[in-house]
Amino acid sequence: MSAKVWLVGAGPGDPELLTLKAVRALHEADVVLIDDLVNPAVLEHCAGARVVTVGKRGGCRSTPQDFIHRLMLRYARQGKCVVRLKGGDPCIFGRGGEEALWLRERSVEVELVNGITAGLAGATHCAIPLTLRGVSRGVTLITAHTQDDSQLNWRALAEGGTTLVVYMGVAKLEEIRQQLLEGGMAANMPVAMIENASLPQQRECRSDLARMHEDAQAFALKSPAILVIGSVAATAQAACSAVAAIA
Ligand code: SAH
Repeated sequence: MSAKVWLVGAGPGDPELLTLKAVRALHEADVVLIDDLVNPAVLEHCAGARVVTVGKRGGCRSTPQDFIHRLMLRYARQGKCVVRLKGGDPCIFGRGGEEALWLRERSVEVELVNGITAGLAGATHCAIPLTLRGVSRGVTLITAHTQDDSQLNWRALAEGGTTLVVYMGVAKLEEIRQQLLEGGMAANMPVAMIENASLPQQRECRSDLARMHEDAQAFALKSPAILVIGSVAATAQAACSAVAAIA
């Protein structure tokens, strides 16, 4: 039997957003390695798997990536059905790409299972359409957090006209604002900040580019949160005000 690891997305939090394929993988799993942004409620689909928590929250104590790699390899070589369960989608800022590469280099078969990424879920749960005919012709997913010195092309992002969805941005709001303003984005560009998207404790803060940092502070915005920056971020509000005006 060849060694195999499933790299599975658990979605943004709401257990009902799990895919049927993820449910099947969890059901068949002997071992589940779980990130700390995964809602433990999804583990109800396991049939007796051993669950190992290998959280990796930025800035907090976390399991070294190399340890996670070796753990997956060890269990897979023992012939166990290994599920590596990640928040959202495994390959959207989730190191799924790195883990798959590392395992394949060691002749471990990898099967990737999509999950609903937090950016999409957050927007949907606030009734924001990320693309909208006549308003936004595209979406750009970015992270504000880097471990290297790489720079985003902020001018291109500011001028690109796509909706920006920012992951891991809570601690970088000031920098994001400054870069986008310098890049030429309008100060009144609508911004939605969505914390704990899809969970019962979801909160959303509406603002604009110029005020988003102060508004987030007043709101006490906390991670995990995503930012949606673009004209579409005002659409749900506009619809709500229209309804309120009629009512
Ligand atoms: N692979 C994940 C992203 C992991 S990076 C995915 O596809 O969703 C971690 C970042 O994702 C957090 O800092 C936050 O920006 C975002 N995130 C994850 N879960 C979230 C949630 N329920 N609500 C809002 N943002 C979330």
